[in-house]
Amino acid sequence: MDYYSSEISKLIEELSSLPGIGAKSAQRLAFHILNMPKEQVEELASSIVTARQNIKYCKCCFNLTDQDICPICSDENRDHKTIMVVENTRDLVAYEKTGKYEGVYHVLHGAISPMLGIGPADIKLKELLVRLEKDVDEVIIATNSSLEGETTAMYISKLVKPTGIKVTRIASGVPVGGDLEYIDEVTLLRALQGRTQL
Ligand code: ZN
Repeated sequence: MDYYSSEISKLIEELSSLPGIGAKSAQRLAFHILNMPKEQVEELASSIVTARQNIKYCKCCFNLTDQDICPICSDENRDHKTIMVVENTRDLVAYEKTGKYEGVYHVLHGAISPMLGIGPADIKLKELLVRLEKDVDEVIIATNSSLEGETTAMYISKLVKPTGIKVTRIASGVPVGGDLEYIDEVTLLRALQGRTQL
């Protein structure tokens, strides 16, 4: 990296810290950015900073939003008595893209992983239980089918069952260890429709 001035090296280093960006891509992006018109670079940089500053968790479902309550939670046409529990915002987006789910969500922001030292208190589980004190018909557990996702699903079902609320798990049309965001919409819908009661 000594061929470059330190500013360019720094830019390449920052870019390569992003997920999915290897050293070569980072270099390519860096040179692309350096050749862009200055105003365009300023717009890109400021949109990153503004998004990071203004985006927060929805107070209800913990989706990422720039409002106190996200557009899904504030939509009166949705079924607020059906809550789908997902691991992260990317999974929520995957289900939203199907356009067929009419309930609301709860984003855990992680999954229980004894190996990584992530326990129930480290994800948004308490917050889910608080929501269940209101009028809820069904909790659909849509965590990934990885070991962590399954562990989390079992944990949640044990917590919810005593409340008498129906608990379901999406069908395992989703490949084991599969990350929900990469699975096509048809498979996602099939998994949702084929959900089974726990
Ligand atoms: Zn919300």
